[in-house]
Formats: sequence, C-alpha cells, structure tokens
Amino acid sequence: MAHIVILGAGIGGLPAAYEVRQELGKEHKVTVVTADTYFQFIPSNPWVAVGWRNRDDITFPLAPYLERKGIDLISQRVDKIVPTENRLELANGETVTYDYLIITTGAKLMFSAIEGSGPHGGYTQSICTVDHAEHCYENFKQLLDKPGPVIVGAMPGASCYGPAYEYVFILDTALRKKKIRNKVPITFVTAEPYIGHLGLGGVGDSNGMLESELRAHDIKWITNAKTTKVLTAMAKSSNNTNCPSITR
Ligand SMILES: Cc1cc2nc3c(=O)[nH]c(=O)nc-3n(C[C@H](O)[C@H](O)[C@H](O)COP(=O)(O)OP(=O)(O)OC[C@H]3O[C@@H](n4cnc5c(N)ncnc54)[C@H](O)[C@@H]3O)c2cc1C
Repeated sequence: MAHIVILGAGIGGLPAAYEVRQELGKEHKVTVVTADTYFQFIPSNPWVAVGWRNRDDITFPLAPYLERKGIDLISQRVDKIVPTENRLELANGETVTYDYLIITTGAKLMFSAIEGSGPHGGYTQSICTVDHAEHCYENFKQLLDKPGPVIVGAMPGASCYGPAYEYVFILDTALRKKKIRNKVPITFVTAEPYIGHLGLGGVGDSNGMLESELRAHDIKWITNAKTTKVLTAMAKSSNNTNCPSITR
C-alpha cells in the first residue's frame, strides 16, 4: 500500500493523477497537492485577454472531479520538499508524507528578472495565468477607449514563444473586429534570433510563414532584442520571462 502524491494540478498534474489512479488498485492512496482550488486551461488564456472567453469557460473546480475518481485534494502551496524524509511542507504549516512524488509544478514566472515588467508592480501585461489574462483584458478595454501603439513579444529567458505569436494575431483580429486596428500600430519584440525561431531553431518553414503573416497583418517586428527594463508607467505593457510577453 503506497501513498502517491502529485504536486500541481495543471495540464501535467491532472492527467497524471487520473492515470495513476486508474493504474493502481484501491489499496493505494492518491493525493493531489496544489496551490489552487481550480484547474485552468492555460492555452485558452489569450482569448480571455481579449474577452472572447471568460474565467468560467476555461477553468473548473478540482474538488468534485477528483473526489469522483477517489483522489484526495489538498489545496495548499508547497513551500518545501524534504526528499530525505519523503515529506512536503505546506504553506499552512502542515506536512504531507509520500511514498512516491510526481512533480508537475510548471513554469515559474520571473518578472523580477527585468525591471518594470509584470502585471503586479510593473508596467506590463501577461497571459500566463487566467488571473493575468483577466488583468490584461482590463488593459485591452482601456486600449479600445484610447487606442495607441502596442508592443507584443517575449523577453530574454522566455522558454515558450508560440503564445506570443498566438496573442499578437488574436489582438490584431480583436482590434479589426472593433474597427480600430488602423489606430493601433503593433510591434512584435522578441529575444528570438529570427522570427519563427520559437526557441527551437524553427519548425519547418516557421520563419517564412510567420514573417509573411506578420507582414500581411501590418505587424512590425524586432528580433534578437534583449529587453533590460520597462521604463514608463505611461505606456502600459506586458511580458513574462517564461512565455509570451505583451508590451503596450
Ligand atoms: C498563453 C499560453 C498558451 C499556451 N498554449 C499552448 C498550446 O497551444 N499547446 C501547448 O502544448 N502548450 C501551450 N502552452 C504551454 C502549456 O500551457 C504548458 O506547457 C503547460 O501548462 C505546462 O503544464 P504543467 O502541468 O507542467 O504546469 P501548469 O499547467 O503551469 O500547472 C502547474 C501546477 O502546479 C501548481 N503549483 C506550482 N507551484 C506550486 C507549489 N509550490 N505548491 C503547490 N502547487 C504548485 C500550480 O498551482 C498548477 O496547478 C501555452 C502556455 C501559455 C502561457
């Protein structure tokens, strides 16, 4: 009889918990420990950021679904893993012991790496969490009221570039639908050496295709950019260092 703990309930953690539960007999205990009470489908955040979806469309509460499968849930942040004692220390001071631990904690956002970045205390927006995407949507509504130049992109250290492209084309479409695209010059600024590199050295003809699409949508670009600081509070902006960034 073993206690299997899955740390994190995102795109990795939730399927892991379901699979482990399905594979093991009932004598084994499966517990999910996660900071949130809900699952969020992160790839849909860009739509939340322009109001095409809302929080309820892309999240659901974990407890009823896990309970139905016979999986325990502890909604607490883990502050420390003590592997020598097979133990987790939780933010509320409690501890959880395990026989096997699966870690699926995802990306750690690093706004602190670039001065002035981040939606809380910085001047940039982000679409990396549903909270950030909602915050970004409020900023988008301000843009609709007062159109002006927008920068979208990814800063140095980003590990996931695709969503930055996804967002810039979504933003372009959202502004066209509102019939104000002509009042919003968009520049894509990225740490990638060339458009379509995606942190992977390109995928097929991603360079040619994405350059062509950016051109067709009247989006200018700057590559190989090392953003070191976001300077002004007047021009609100957005970024993160682990996935896409948007600067306005
Ligand atoms: C805007 C956007 C669009 C994307 N689109 C795509 C796409 O189209 N296709 C694709 O394949 N990928 C896409 N990605 C990437 C994909 O979302 C991630 O690779 C994926 O979410 C990673 O899953 P994960 O389970 O490892 O982490 P996450 O989904 O981030 O989940 C991490 C979990 O760990 C929990 N956690 C973290 N730290 C702690 C702690 N200390 N204590 C307790 N719990 C903790 C969190 O609360 C969360 O439940 C996109 C990413 C973004 C940001």
